[in-house]
Amino acid sequence: MKHIQKSEEPESFTNWKQQANEDWQPYWDILRNPEKGCLDQSLLQEQGFICCYCNRRIGKENSHIEHLKPRTHYPDLALKYTNLLASCQRERERKEPLHCGAKKDEWYDEHLMVSPLDANCTEFFRYTEDGQILPTEIIDKKDAAKTTIEKLDLNIDKLKNMRSQAIEAILEGFGDLSDAEKQMLLQGFSKPDSNGQYGEFCEAISYIIQQYI
Ligand SMILES: [Zn+2]
Repeated sequence: MKHIQKSEEPESFTNWKQQANEDWQPYWDILRNPEKGCLDQSLLQEQGFICCYCNRRIGKENSHIEHLKPRTHYPDLALKYTNLLASCQRERERKEPLHCGAKKDEWYDEHLMVSPLDANCTEFFRYTEDGQILPTEIIDKKDAAKTTIEKLDLNIDKLKNMRSQAIEAILEGFGDLSDAEKQMLLQGFSKPDSNGQYGEFCEAISYIIQQYI
């Protein structure tokens, strides 16, 4: 899981909410384009076009806006930008297992969910070369990390396979690199590219690279 630094919400979204008056109250279900499209774009940009939970590549066409604290239980946060994230799986493909925001659905537990908005969320997860995501040994967060992995189904075969393939591609020829080149490779995964995109599964790959440095 990669930490997400929230940016300012799009002006069009603020304006749309400010139109509220006695006859008209904004609520999530009536949010439409162009405001919704601006919101999509803003969330994708601040996340570097990777899913807020699994870190796979996403764009407008294959992501949805996720309420970190579900709007059924936290209606006051339904339109709060700080509660909105971009998660993978806009529409489920045939037989595709649910994971991330779609799997999480209405679940949220402030003690048992590790949120990508937690500044140190990265420290609570570790990865294996065969693509697993596991809790680290940080005692006070171990249960939360374990529960989050389970509730969001982050360790299903599909995601494990995608992660292991991404890791394998990076490790190919890794041993031939100089120490400086290895460091450069690692740094490359800590920042977005010239298009504002983070590398797919950047946290998992960074973790594995660090085991070899
Ligand atoms: Zn995801």
